Amino acid sequence: MSNSNFPSSIKSILIFGAMNVETEWMISKLSDVKRKEIGGYPFCEGTFNGKKIIVGRTFTGMENSAAATAIGILNFSPDCIISQGTAGGHDPLLHKKDIVIGERLVNISSFKTNRYGKDEGIHPTEWEIKDWDLFEGDEKEKEVPCLYSSSTLVELAIKTEYRNGKLAKGTISSSNNWNMEMDRINHLVETYGSTCEEMESYAATQIANRFNVPVLTVRIISNSEQHPGEEYERTTGLLCQEFVLDVVEKL
Ligand code: SAH
Repeated sequence: MSNSNFPSSIKSILIFGAMNVETEWMISKLSDVKRKEIGGYPFCEGTFNGKKIIVGRTFTGMENSAAATAIGILNFSPDCIISQGTAGGHDPLLHKKDIVIGERLVNISSFKTNRYGKDEGIHPTEWEIKDWDLFEGDEKEKEVPCLYSSSTLVELAIKTEYRNGKLAKGTISSSNNWNMEMDRINHLVETYGSTCEEMESYAATQIANRFNVPVLTVRIISNSEQHPGEEYERTTGLLCQEFVLDVVEKL
Protein backbone atom coordinates (compact mmCIF):
# COMPACT_ATOMS: atom_id res chain seq x y z
CA MET A 1 0.00 0.00 0.00
CA SER A 2 1.38 3.39 -0.95
CA ASN A 3 1.85 4.96 2.43
CA SER A 4 5.52 5.87 2.46
CA ASN A 5 6.53 9.49 2.92
CA PHE A 6 3.26 10.52 4.56
CA PRO A 7 3.90 14.09 5.74
CA SER A 8 3.88 14.69 9.51
CA SER A 9 1.43 17.54 8.99
CA ILE A 10 -0.80 18.30 6.01
CA LYS A 11 -0.72 21.99 5.13
CA SER A 12 -1.95 21.93 1.54
CA ILE A 13 -4.45 19.68 -0.23
CA LEU A 14 -5.19 19.48 -3.94
CA ILE A 15 -8.77 18.32 -4.57
CA PHE A 16 -9.87 17.29 -8.05
CA GLY A 17 -13.27 17.01 -9.66
CA ALA A 18 -14.09 16.52 -13.34
CA MET A 19 -17.17 18.69 -13.58
CA ASN A 20 -18.40 21.98 -12.14
CA VAL A 21 -21.04 20.08 -10.13
CA GLU A 22 -18.12 18.31 -8.46
CA THR A 23 -16.00 21.41 -7.72
CA GLU A 24 -18.00 24.66 -7.50
CA TRP A 25 -19.46 24.24 -4.02
CA MET A 26 -16.02 23.57 -2.51
CA ILE A 27 -14.61 26.66 -4.23
CA SER A 28 -17.45 28.72 -2.69
CA LYS A 29 -16.28 27.57 0.77
CA LEU A 30 -12.68 28.83 0.32
CA SER A 31 -11.41 32.24 1.49
CA ASP A 32 -9.05 34.50 -0.48
CA VAL A 33 -9.51 32.54 -3.68
CA LYS A 34 -7.01 32.98 -6.51
CA ARG A 35 -7.92 31.42 -9.86
CA LYS A 36 -5.20 30.23 -12.18
CA GLU A 37 -5.72 28.43 -15.48
CA ILE A 38 -2.83 26.26 -16.66
CA GLY A 39 -3.01 24.44 -19.99
CA GLY A 40 -6.76 24.96 -19.96
CA TYR A 41 -7.18 23.37 -16.51
CA PRO A 42 -8.65 25.77 -13.91
CA PHE A 43 -7.23 25.71 -10.37
CA CYS A 44 -8.70 27.73 -7.49
CA GLU A 45 -6.36 28.22 -4.56
CA GLY A 46 -7.70 29.44 -1.23
CA THR A 47 -7.82 28.72 2.48
CA PHE A 48 -10.20 26.53 4.45
CA ASN A 49 -9.93 25.56 8.09
CA GLY A 50 -6.40 27.01 8.28
CA LYS A 51 -5.10 24.96 5.35
CA LYS A 52 -4.23 25.77 1.78
CA ILE A 53 -6.79 24.10 -0.48
CA ILE A 54 -6.46 23.97 -4.25
CA VAL A 55 -9.55 22.82 -6.13
CA GLY A 56 -8.69 21.67 -9.63
CA ARG A 57 -11.02 20.81 -12.47
CA THR A 58 -9.72 17.90 -14.53
CA PHE A 59 -12.58 17.69 -17.04
CA THR A 60 -13.67 14.17 -17.93
CA GLY A 61 -11.50 11.14 -18.58
CA MET A 62 -8.21 9.46 -17.75
CA GLU A 63 -5.95 11.61 -19.96
CA ASN A 64 -7.31 14.86 -18.57
CA SER A 65 -7.00 13.52 -15.06
CA ALA A 66 -3.35 12.52 -15.56
CA ALA A 67 -2.45 15.87 -17.10
CA ALA A 68 -4.24 17.91 -14.44
CA THR A 69 -2.61 15.85 -11.67
CA ALA A 70 0.92 16.43 -13.02
CA ILE A 71 0.24 20.13 -13.60
CA GLY A 72 -1.30 20.50 -10.14
CA ILE A 73 1.62 18.81 -8.38
CA LEU A 74 4.25 20.82 -10.24
CA ASN A 75 2.53 24.15 -9.69
CA PHE A 76 1.15 23.83 -6.14
CA SER A 77 3.33 21.14 -4.44
CA PRO A 78 0.40 19.77 -2.41
CA ASP A 79 0.99 17.58 0.66
CA CYS A 80 -1.78 15.27 -0.55
CA ILE A 81 -4.38 14.85 -3.29
CA ILE A 82 -8.05 13.86 -3.25
CA SER A 83 -9.68 12.62 -6.48
CA GLN A 84 -13.41 12.87 -5.94
CA GLY A 85 -16.75 13.03 -7.72
CA THR A 86 -19.52 10.85 -9.10
CA ALA A 87 -19.41 7.17 -10.06
CA GLY A 88 -21.63 4.40 -11.34
CA GLY A 89 -22.42 1.72 -8.76
CA HIS A 90 -21.26 -1.87 -9.37
CA ASP A 91 -21.73 -3.39 -5.91
CA PRO A 92 -25.43 -4.32 -5.64
CA LEU A 93 -25.38 -3.43 -1.94
CA LEU A 94 -24.71 0.22 -2.77
CA HIS A 95 -27.30 2.76 -3.88
CA LYS A 96 -27.37 6.28 -5.22
CA LYS A 97 -25.86 8.75 -2.69
CA ASP A 98 -23.74 6.10 -0.96
CA ILE A 99 -20.04 7.03 -0.81
CA VAL A 100 -17.09 4.79 -1.67
CA ILE A 101 -13.66 5.36 -0.16
CA GLY A 102 -11.41 4.04 -2.90
CA GLU A 103 -8.99 1.83 -1.07
CA ARG A 104 -7.95 0.03 -4.27
CA LEU A 105 -8.09 1.05 -7.93
CA VAL A 106 -8.11 -0.96 -11.17
CA ASN A 107 -7.71 0.25 -14.74
CA ILE A 108 -10.56 -1.33 -16.71
CA SER A 109 -9.32 0.06 -20.01
CA SER A 110 -6.02 -1.80 -19.99
CA PHE A 111 -6.38 -5.42 -21.09
CA LYS A 112 -4.45 -8.13 -22.88
CA THR A 113 -6.60 -10.50 -24.95
CA ASN A 114 -5.93 -14.13 -25.73
CA ARG A 115 -4.95 -15.00 -29.31
CA TYR A 116 -7.82 -16.12 -31.58
CA GLY A 117 -7.88 -16.47 -35.35
CA LYS A 118 -10.23 -15.03 -37.93
CA ASP A 119 -13.89 -15.90 -37.22
CA GLU A 120 -12.99 -17.31 -33.77
CA GLY A 121 -14.87 -14.58 -32.00
CA ILE A 122 -14.42 -11.85 -29.37
CA HIS A 123 -14.03 -13.03 -25.74
CA PRO A 124 -14.14 -10.06 -23.34
CA THR A 125 -14.66 -12.19 -20.22
CA GLU A 126 -11.27 -13.81 -20.89
CA TRP A 127 -9.39 -10.51 -21.18
CA GLU A 128 -6.88 -9.89 -18.39
CA ILE A 129 -6.14 -6.53 -16.85
CA LYS A 130 -2.54 -5.41 -17.36
CA ASP A 131 -0.83 -2.29 -16.18
CA TRP A 132 1.88 -1.75 -18.76
CA ASP A 133 3.43 0.97 -16.64
CA LEU A 134 3.51 -0.94 -13.33
CA PHE A 135 5.02 -4.11 -14.74
CA GLU A 136 7.79 -2.77 -16.87
CA GLY A 137 11.17 -4.41 -16.39
CA ASP A 138 11.70 -7.34 -14.06
CA GLU A 139 8.83 -6.74 -11.69
CA LYS A 140 6.59 -9.80 -11.24
CA GLU A 141 3.03 -9.28 -12.26
CA LYS A 142 0.47 -9.37 -9.48
CA GLU A 143 -2.64 -11.46 -10.03
CA VAL A 144 -4.75 -8.34 -10.57
CA PRO A 145 -2.66 -5.24 -11.21
CA CYS A 146 -4.03 -2.47 -9.01
CA LEU A 147 -3.09 0.75 -7.26
CA TYR A 148 -3.91 1.81 -3.69
CA SER A 149 -4.91 5.03 -2.00
CA SER A 150 -2.81 6.14 0.96
CA SER A 151 -3.92 3.91 3.86
CA THR A 152 -3.60 6.86 6.27
CA LEU A 153 -6.06 8.87 4.19
CA VAL A 154 -8.40 5.88 3.74
CA GLU A 155 -8.60 5.30 7.51
CA LEU A 156 -9.24 8.97 8.14
CA ALA A 157 -11.98 9.18 5.49
CA ILE A 158 -13.80 6.01 6.55
CA LYS A 159 -14.08 7.39 10.10
CA THR A 160 -15.70 10.62 8.87
CA GLU A 161 -19.42 10.90 9.52
CA TYR A 162 -21.73 10.75 6.48
CA ARG A 163 -25.46 11.25 6.92
CA ASN A 164 -26.86 10.91 3.39
CA GLY A 165 -26.17 7.22 2.80
CA LYS A 166 -23.75 4.38 3.44
CA LEU A 167 -20.01 4.88 3.59
CA ALA A 168 -17.90 1.93 2.41
CA LYS A 169 -14.33 1.11 1.46
CA GLY A 170 -14.05 -0.34 -2.03
CA THR A 171 -12.39 -0.87 -5.38
CA ILE A 172 -12.69 1.90 -7.96
CA SER A 173 -12.74 0.82 -11.62
CA SER A 174 -11.50 3.57 -13.94
CA SER A 175 -11.66 3.85 -17.74
CA ASN A 176 -13.10 6.17 -20.35
CA ASN A 177 -16.04 3.78 -20.76
CA TRP A 178 -19.55 4.03 -19.37
CA ASN A 179 -20.75 0.46 -18.83
CA MET A 180 -24.43 -0.41 -18.88
CA GLU A 181 -24.26 -4.13 -19.68
CA MET A 182 -25.27 -6.03 -16.54
CA ASP A 183 -23.26 -9.13 -17.40
CA ARG A 184 -20.15 -7.00 -17.93
CA ILE A 185 -20.73 -5.10 -14.70
CA ASN A 186 -21.20 -8.33 -12.74
CA HIS A 187 -18.09 -9.78 -14.39
CA LEU A 188 -16.12 -6.75 -13.13
CA VAL A 189 -17.57 -7.28 -9.64
CA GLU A 190 -16.73 -10.98 -9.60
CA THR A 191 -13.31 -10.77 -11.27
CA TYR A 192 -11.87 -7.58 -9.79
CA GLY A 193 -14.09 -6.89 -6.77
CA SER A 194 -15.25 -3.68 -8.43
CA THR A 195 -17.38 -1.44 -6.23
CA CYS A 196 -18.04 1.36 -8.74
CA GLU A 197 -16.79 2.86 -12.01
CA GLU A 198 -15.65 6.31 -13.04
CA MET A 199 -13.22 7.95 -15.45
CA GLU A 200 -10.40 9.69 -13.56
CA SER A 201 -9.09 8.21 -10.33
CA TYR A 202 -6.74 5.47 -11.53
CA ALA A 203 -4.89 8.04 -13.66
CA ALA A 204 -4.72 10.55 -10.78
CA THR A 205 -3.38 7.83 -8.46
CA GLN A 206 -0.82 6.61 -11.00
CA ILE A 207 0.63 10.10 -11.46
CA ALA A 208 0.47 11.02 -7.76
CA ASN A 209 2.35 7.79 -6.96
CA ARG A 210 5.08 8.74 -9.44
CA PHE A 211 5.54 12.04 -7.60
CA ASN A 212 5.28 10.31 -4.18
CA VAL A 213 2.29 12.43 -3.19
CA PRO A 214 -0.25 10.61 -0.95
CA VAL A 215 -3.58 10.31 -2.75
CA LEU A 216 -7.14 9.33 -1.85
CA THR A 217 -10.17 8.59 -4.02
CA VAL A 218 -13.67 9.44 -2.76
CA ARG A 219 -16.66 8.72 -5.02
CA ILE A 220 -20.41 9.11 -4.61
CA ILE A 221 -22.76 6.73 -6.42
CA SER A 222 -24.64 8.91 -8.93
CA ASN A 223 -26.23 6.03 -10.84
CA SER A 224 -26.43 2.25 -10.62
CA GLU A 225 -27.42 -0.30 -13.21
CA GLN A 226 -27.91 -2.74 -10.31
CA HIS A 227 -31.08 -0.90 -9.29
CA PRO A 228 -33.80 0.00 -11.81
CA GLY A 229 -34.59 3.72 -11.66
CA GLU A 230 -31.24 4.76 -10.17
CA GLU A 231 -30.38 6.90 -13.19
CA TYR A 232 -27.42 9.28 -13.39
CA GLU A 233 -27.95 12.32 -11.18
CA ARG A 234 -25.01 14.69 -11.43
CA THR A 235 -26.24 16.79 -8.48
CA THR A 236 -25.01 14.01 -6.16
CA GLY A 237 -21.63 15.70 -6.80
CA LEU A 238 -22.62 18.30 -4.20
CA LEU A 239 -23.00 15.69 -1.43
CA CYS A 240 -19.59 14.28 -2.29
CA GLN A 241 -17.99 17.73 -2.01
CA GLU A 242 -19.61 18.25 1.40
CA PHE A 243 -18.22 14.94 2.60
CA VAL A 244 -14.75 15.69 1.20
CA LEU A 245 -14.56 18.99 3.09
CA ASP A 246 -15.58 17.09 6.25
CA VAL A 247 -12.62 14.78 5.60
CA VAL A 248 -10.36 17.79 5.02
CA GLU A 249 -11.39 19.21 8.40
CA LYS A 250 -9.93 16.10 10.03
CA LEU A 251 -6.58 16.33 8.28
N1 SAH B 1 -20.60 16.03 -18.50
C1 SAH B 1 -21.67 15.11 -18.76
C2 SAH B 1 -21.27 13.66 -18.68
C3 SAH B 1 -20.22 13.32 -17.72
S1 SAH B 1 -20.32 11.67 -17.33
C4 SAH B 1 -22.85 15.36 -17.86
O1 SAH B 1 -22.75 16.01 -16.82
O2 SAH B 1 -23.90 14.85 -18.22
C5 SAH B 1 -18.75 11.24 -16.96
C6 SAH B 1 -18.32 11.65 -15.57
O3 SAH B 1 -19.10 11.05 -14.57
C7 SAH B 1 -16.91 11.20 -15.38
O4 SAH B 1 -16.20 12.24 -14.77
C8 SAH B 1 -17.01 9.96 -14.48
O5 SAH B 1 -15.98 9.95 -13.53
C9 SAH B 1 -18.38 10.07 -13.82
N2 SAH B 1 -19.26 8.91 -13.85
C10 SAH B 1 -20.45 8.88 -13.17
N3 SAH B 1 -21.08 7.71 -13.40
C11 SAH B 1 -20.32 6.97 -14.24
C12 SAH B 1 -20.47 5.68 -14.85
N4 SAH B 1 -21.55 4.92 -14.64
N5 SAH B 1 -19.48 5.24 -15.66
C13 SAH B 1 -18.41 6.01 -15.90
N6 SAH B 1 -18.23 7.25 -15.36
C14 SAH B 1 -19.16 7.74 -14.54
